[in-house]
Amino acid sequence: MLIYHFFKDLVDIKINYEIGKKTWFGTGGKTKILLVINNLKSLKFLLKLVPKSQPIFLLGAGSNVIVRDGGINGITVKLGKDFKKIDYIKGRKIIDIGSAAKDLDISRFCYENSIGNFEFLRGIPGTLGGNIKMNAGCFGSSISDELISCRIIDRKGNIKKLLKEDLRFDYRFSSIPGDSIVLDAKFKAVTKNKRIIQQMLKKISDERILSQPINSRTGGSTFKNTPTESAWKLIDKINFRGKVLGGAKVSDLHTNFLINSGNANSLDLELLGEEIKSKVKKKYNINLDWELIRVGQFKKI
Ligand SMILES: Cc1cc2nc3c(=O)[nH]c(=O)nc-3n(C[C@H](O)[C@H](O)[C@H](O)COP(=O)(O)OP(=O)(O)OC[C@H]3O[C@@H](n4cnc5c(N)ncnc54)[C@H](O)[C@@H]3O)c2cc1C
Repeated sequence: MLIYHFFKDLVDIKINYEIGKKTWFGTGGKTKILLVINNLKSLKFLLKLVPKSQPIFLLGAGSNVIVRDGGINGITVKLGKDFKKIDYIKGRKIIDIGSAAKDLDISRFCYENSIGNFEFLRGIPGTLGGNIKMNAGCFGSSISDELISCRIIDRKGNIKKLLKEDLRFDYRFSSIPGDSIVLDAKFKAVTKNKRIIQQMLKKISDERILSQPINSRTGGSTFKNTPTESAWKLIDKINFRGKVLGGAKVSDLHTNFLINSGNANSLDLELLGEEIKSKVKKKYNINLDWELIRVGQFKKI
């Protein structure tokens, strides 16, 4: 009976699913099992059921991920319906957002309700869970700015509420434990004039079109900026603008963006990234850190 309820509530179970194709890069292999989970009850059940030795990879919108060509030899989870809520608790000036809510939907919702300081999400194609995990940000804002608290669930199925003060956020870093899943989060809702929000949204959208290859298969920033220099500048200085390796290419528009120019596999992307790292290290003695999350196995030849 319990099993019946669990499966009924799961939207989808897919075996040997082409998960790489679902990432922004559109490269990489299959996952042995994909579970699209629609509600908390099912997620809790799953976490209690799966042995802790079995890794679970949580995929958001796949906008910062390279899935390696050998695929994910285990379970990939995507959060569905119930995790997409965006609620405005007006009396308390709080927004409560589910971790699968898309950035574009959050920025639209905030605009419609005259809530400011979420305009920057117009420029990021992820989900709230990925944003919190990565402490995503741009145009001088980041997701932790207005955060009050978030709820996470651990591998034993225990739910914990964490206040912003309980967490550490840094540039593209959060201290969300590696094996925990972000469920939802509450943010301060700061009222702002709709016209000002709209101007900001337009500015961000225009600047993105000019400066990022948003219509290409990409994964956003490949490397984190260093404390002293932007990654894109270092990549430019080693003359890698437009550099090609197999089907992978350094974007002509933004050198910290790698592109799948049509027939890339994940190895092409990763090797091009490693070549950049080694050239920058050799020339400037600087270690570039990957911002892209790389998961899965290399393909056996
Ligand atoms: C065109 C383009 C532009 C971009 N511009 C920016 C930018 O300006 N600023 C910026 O910061 N980023 C940018 N990115 C990168 C990316 O959009 C962000 O990192 C985003 O926050 C990732 O969210 P996601 O849902 O796609 O996460 P994914 O890429 O699917 O996953 C990223 C990581 O987050 C984890 N994760 C996802 N959901 C959860 C969850 N619910 N709980 C726990 N862990 C989770 C995953 O396991 C993985 O480790 C850009 C990407 C693209 C393609």
